[in-house]
Amino acid sequence: MNRHPYPFAGGALRNFIDGRFVEGPTRFPNLDPVTGAKLADVTAADRAMVDQAVTAARAALKGDWGRMAQAERCRLLVRVAEGIEARFDDFVAAEVADTGKPLAHARAVDIPRGAANFRSFAALAEARAMPSFQTRTADGRTAINYSIPRPLGVVAVISPWNLPLLLMSWKVAPALACGNAIVAKPSEETPSTATLLAEVIEAAGIPPGVFNLIHGAGANAPGEWLVSHPDVDAITFTGESSTGSTIMRAAAAGVKPISFELGGKNPALIFADCDFEAALAGTVRSVFSNCGQVCLCTERVYVERPIFDRFVAALAEKARALSIGDPWSGAAIGPVISAQQRDKVLGYYRLAAEEGAHFHAGGDAPAMEGALAGGYFVAPTVMTGLPETARAVREEIFGPVCHVAPFDSEEQAIGYANDSAYGLAAAVWTRDVSRAHRVAGQIEAGIVWVNDWFLRDLRTPFGGVKLSGIGREGGEHSLNFYSEPTNICVSF
Ligand code: NAD
Repeated sequence: MNRHPYPFAGGALRNFIDGRFVEGPTRFPNLDPVTGAKLADVTAADRAMVDQAVTAARAALKGDWGRMAQAERCRLLVRVAEGIEARFDDFVAAEVADTGKPLAHARAVDIPRGAANFRSFAALAEARAMPSFQTRTADGRTAINYSIPRPLGVVAVISPWNLPLLLMSWKVAPALACGNAIVAKPSEETPSTATLLAEVIEAAGIPPGVFNLIHGAGANAPGEWLVSHPDVDAITFTGESSTGSTIMRAAAAGVKPISFELGGKNPALIFADCDFEAALAGTVRSVFSNCGQVCLCTERVYVERPIFDRFVAALAEKARALSIGDPWSGAAIGPVISAQQRDKVLGYYRLAAEEGAHFHAGGDAPAMEGALAGGYFVAPTVMTGLPETARAVREEIFGPVCHVAPFDSEEQAIGYANDSAYGLAAAVWTRDVSRAHRVAGQIEAGIVWVNDWFLRDLRTPFGGVKLSGIGREGGEHSLNFYSEPTNICVSF
């Protein structure tokens, strides 16, 4: 496919505050992970701009947006979806430039889901009706109870770099559908599609101040200033568990509602009675999609002993066959997001080797040529031989890597799956229907796929247990988080 130009090439990305694009006082480079070269400058917000964004959001709640009929709000959100679709190639080029992710992934997942988030939450919010009912007490009083949903107010949206538009819109769309005003901060690694989204939101006719965007880093920077701002009413965050813990402390000061989608160390349980080829293809996808940088990716694979050797050999062969390189050339594996992330992943490869791992594929950085030699590439890696106590088996690596271990019974497999500080997602591969239900129901995770992975319906509850998060989003769960009901009891 011909390379579509990066929309901000050589320019400077700006913040979007109160309906205007404004430069911040400091700049940092937006780097291309494929080559390490600079794509553009990003102008970061200072503390005063974070204040202005929160003030603009507060004012918007009291203006047209606060008075707007639900149907009209939802109509504007559908226009945002249409705006993303109309600029599909710009969004794809921006996402691929920022992340280096495979072109096919950006075209099939990231950008379509960005638009779908706006469409589907607009439809859900418009169809929402809250129940009312009559109350009769023993002493003869009668009342009608009904609830009206109110927006939370000013919502801070903080999102990560792995699926930038998808994850930001996953929060922005339902928050707007519920009538909130937003100050959003994308990851400093991936500022581009968020900036395009601001352009689309402006063009859709959403009033100034309803959606504000600030650029910059997290700690001691716009992220921290935003989540600790006294006039922010609620915080919704996707990112690392340790960042979630820091943000939680900031939220505690104002007893603010939080919704957290955090890290994972997700297991796949592969039983000997599975459809071998389907389990293999599914596991290749769940380990290596987006270079292993999806929170739902599998990093721990447990295989029933009779098929263990065959499965490891087949998985390693598939891993070695994955093409690595420039996303525009159709490569299946791009770089990881940054030099820091590359060093972190390679650090885990070294640690695993020290801990006694046997590498069946990868374990190092591939030799890249030409401009790609400056890129942040790591090899797709399959390893075995580590004890369950090894750090590489317990900690989230967030790269194209898995550890594979054998199991001998259903009970042991469930024990391995649950022996983790995280609990986001799991995959179970078996042809035994009873076992599928029995095992899935015992796994401590927010999502369990049976004979598939990353099959999403936006109405289902999404989130994690333990270190993987707090709360659920998706469908009515999002509407419940982004609004609060007031119950009105009318006695007559
Ligand atoms: P991160 O926690 O480093 O950063 C996420 C966002 O938080 C960024 O915008 C960052 O600038 C901001 N931030 C950092 N410190 C902050 C602070 N003190 N105050 C306010 N904001 C701050 O995460 P990342 O490296 O961008 O993303 C990868 C992580 O996200 C992985 O752990 C992955 O599992 C997780 N993730 C989870 C889900 C999910 O749905 N559960 C989805 C995607 C990614």
